[in-house]
Amino acid sequence: MDILLKKIIEAAGIPGYESEIAKIMHAEFKKTCSEVQIDNFGNVIAKKGKGKTRIMLAAHMDEIGLMVKHITKEGFLYFIKLGGIDDRILPAQRVIVKAKKGDCLGIIGTKPPHLQKDEEKKKPLKYEDMFIDIGCKSKEDAEKKVEVGDIIIFEPNSGVLNEKLYYGKAIDDRIGCFALIKIMEKLKVNAEVYAVATTQEEVGLKGARTSAFKIDPDYAIAIDTNAAGDTPQISERESSLKLGAGVSITIIEASGRGLIVNEKMKNILIDAAKKNKIKYQIDVIEGGMTDGAIIHMNREGVPTGVLSIPTRYIHSPTGVFNIEDLYSAVELAVKAVGDLAK
Ligand SMILES: [Zn+2]
Repeated sequence: MDILLKKIIEAAGIPGYESEIAKIMHAEFKKTCSEVQIDNFGNVIAKKGKGKTRIMLAAHMDEIGLMVKHITKEGFLYFIKLGGIDDRILPAQRVIVKAKKGDCLGIIGTKPPHLQKDEEKKKPLKYEDMFIDIGCKSKEDAEKKVEVGDIIIFEPNSGVLNEKLYYGKAIDDRIGCFALIKIMEKLKVNAEVYAVATTQEEVGLKGARTSAFKIDPDYAIAIDTNAAGDTPQISERESSLKLGAGVSITIIEASGRGLIVNEKMKNILIDAAKKNKIKYQIDVIEGGMTDGAIIHMNREGVPTGVLSIPTRYIHSPTGVFNIEDLYSAVELAVKAVGDLAK
């Protein structure tokens, strides 16, 4: 597995606390871009090229995560969620509290089935009923390691599942961040291209809003991940996206409450894929949005597209994707930016 990809996937960065991943993005952009800065909001903004057209590319750095809310007198941690996390995936997960005093391993605990009453078994398990066990025997003991307000990530993991299928933490959207670095490496166009590694996407597309205002782009493309449908119990009608079938070109998000990709941008992306024989698939999304949903409403409106890499088990401690889809996204973004710059 590519060492940089591994580093990007495993870095910590829940919404509002993206500095660890931002540092990596800043250092990588520095190698190929003429200007790189971290703005007031924590977004990493890199610039490359000269020309009349301003093009913004965005991928979000933040990952879903948790935060310590309360420490019990027995030394267990209650927590809140940041971003869309299905409570049912949480029990028994290994997490890392990124405490000032250093990383602290924890296990998310629940009441075992042996001790549950019948009514409890019928009730869906909520995150409020879970706690994190860091192996301490009292509040004082726990406070030697962690404090209220500390951020919590899923235990970093990444690797190759089989052949082209890779797995890891925070696939949404660190593989988009990795793509952004590769796109900027390859780009040679007569336009001002801005790559933005955005913050706080998972909690309301916030970094994309402030950075789009600053850049005031003529066109934008968001690079993200979306939910693949090629696993048991998902019908083709729910999602026809398959790993290995290419980069996904979004047509609409959240049934139109998110981005509705305008005709021109849609044609540029699809034509560029066809012309350059880049594998692609089309996505019509009923639920879920990306940074594109906020960028396209910047100022007087910005023609915006979204390229996504289909991901299995999205918004969980471990996602799975196909590395070739990632490279299709890179290739298509480079070609489309070239066409937009003309
Ligand atoms: Zn995302």
